[in-house]
Amino acid sequence: MRIEPSGVVMIGVCEIQTPKCRAKEPSAITAVWTLPGRSQVNVCRECMEEMVRAGEWEMLQSRITPHVDVAVLNQDSKIVLMIEVKKRPYYDEDLLGFAVRVHRNLIVHSGIPSQVFFMLALFPSPFYLWSPESALIPTARPDFMVNCEAEMLHRRKMIAEEPSEAHSITEEVIADWIRDILSHPPDRNSQGMDWLHNSGLLERITNGTVVRELEP
Ligand SMILES: [Zn+2]
Repeated sequence: MRIEPSGVVMIGVCEIQTPKCRAKEPSAITAVWTLPGRSQVNVCRECMEEMVRAGEWEMLQSRITPHVDVAVLNQDSKIVLMIEVKKRPYYDEDLLGFAVRVHRNLIVHSGIPSQVFFMLALFPSPFYLWSPESALIPTARPDFMVNCEAEMLHRRKMIAEEPSEAHSITEEVIADWIRDILSHPPDRNSQGMDWLHNSGLLERITNGTVVRELEP
């Protein structure tokens, strides 16, 4: 069944009550709409995740669309790739674990549209890519890891300093990188670019448009 999170958090009793339920007594819950009937179900986060993980629920784009740092839209203006840009944490050696947590929090707190590739760019490297199937599963590990440190640092140098906002430079570097991929798609044998083909991402973003700071 397809659901659409309302983004509204309230206090109440969870109607799903899986074994992991956190709201058998009045507690923080959220309302989701089940589609196509649009009936309301009040559910705690743990049960919502359980239902998605079990394949019972499939999440459509949440009504409160998440902020997207960099995205590729297809010709119908639908998001096909969403990129969350973060600086690589220097304090955390378990980058994969960090990436899984960031992805999970994004799903739990704002949702990820369905049928979208999700990339977490820990600038300058590594970048993690979830396929559309795993992008919706809160606990899923990324399907691909992209090592691109030399490329990103080179591109970062080429872009003039804007002293105001370091974060937006990083986003611009990544947006430029994707634009270049779209205008000159690397072939399958290009070194370090096999993930682009093997994931199916290149095919999905072909003829797409790169946008930044997408807001609903
Ligand atoms: Zn529950």
